[in-house]
Amino acid sequence: MALYAELHRHLGGSVVPRILWRYFQRQTTDLAHRFPEYPEFEEFYTRSRSTLDEYLELHTLVESVQTAQTLPYFIYRLIRGAYIFENLAYLELRYTPYLRTSEQLSQSERIEQMAEIIEIVGQASRVKDYPIVISQILCMHSRLPYEVNKAIVELAAQGKEYVCGVDLAGGDAHYAERLDEFVRLYKYARSLGLKTTGHLYETTEGCYPELLPYLMRIGHGIHIPIKYPELLKEVADQQQCLEVCPTTYLKTGTLNDLRQLKVVFDRCFDAGVDIAICTDNAGLHNVRLPFEYENLLTQDVIDFEQLQACQDAAFRHAFAWPHTQRPASLLTGLLQDKTSEAVVVNSR
Ligand SMILES: [Zn+2]
Repeated sequence: MALYAELHRHLGGSVVPRILWRYFQRQTTDLAHRFPEYPEFEEFYTRSRSTLDEYLELHTLVESVQTAQTLPYFIYRLIRGAYIFENLAYLELRYTPYLRTSEQLSQSERIEQMAEIIEIVGQASRVKDYPIVISQILCMHSRLPYEVNKAIVELAAQGKEYVCGVDLAGGDAHYAERLDEFVRLYKYARSLGLKTTGHLYETTEGCYPELLPYLMRIGHGIHIPIKYPELLKEVADQQQCLEVCPTTYLKTGTLNDLRQLKVVFDRCFDAGVDIAICTDNAGLHNVRLPFEYENLLTQDVIDFEQLQACQDAAFRHAFAWPHTQRPASLLTGLLQDKTSEAVVVNSR
């Protein structure tokens, strides 16, 4: 059985449509009335959007129902699905904790409540029956004020029991006016010993070389090989890994055919840049991680050897995987070790 490490999955986009629809029906929300039948909801939820911004609005829908009270419900179902249907051995779950706090509170109260959200997500991620190694990545957000993003970095540094790194999300086209601020935040994160990734070079508008030196992994980054292949040598020297999430580019209108990714893989392999294949929003797309791999293979974007190289790269660049010298071909043994550890952790 092939085992997978997932490095780029948003909590907001991780809920598969049927789970979300059922939740709405149980809670009899407005959406339950709007979509009394499941197929219409699935069509609404998973259809392609024309821009990244439009696509990100769907996150808002899910964020609004992922509150302190409901997070354990969604996380349990996410982990169960990831273990049973995706063979995940490792999962980094990313989200902006501020966007799960109560909107009725003041900004400073919401900042305070973030610690509670991280604890809730951390506790809910310890599911005894499905022993995946899970850690959180906290996302700074391009539309949130500096103080909130700074608090997110500080919480990540304090919460290392549950948190393995920080990210910057919210659409990479919106960084331009505040680039200095984001550079400062990343410097701060690195000074606190945090691991870093960031949504960057996802869209043609989101290409900021100024941020690159601070990232250990690059969220998407596909426009480096597509538009700026001259940067690949530096990326390889820095041992940065690209988190490539194939289905996303079709759903956001960034690409219109998966085969356009061939140049991304070819140029990265040639330059010695690692790629981890990820889902981004497995629920929103209704495409699970093994199928992201399979789709690339069947469309001749990658071959089996490259597939395995990407699978190995994901474990190698995982922020919280217990790194050993063992290659992925021995992962089954490693998982067994890790599983017993995870069970110990979970049963505490
Ligand atoms: Zn993402």
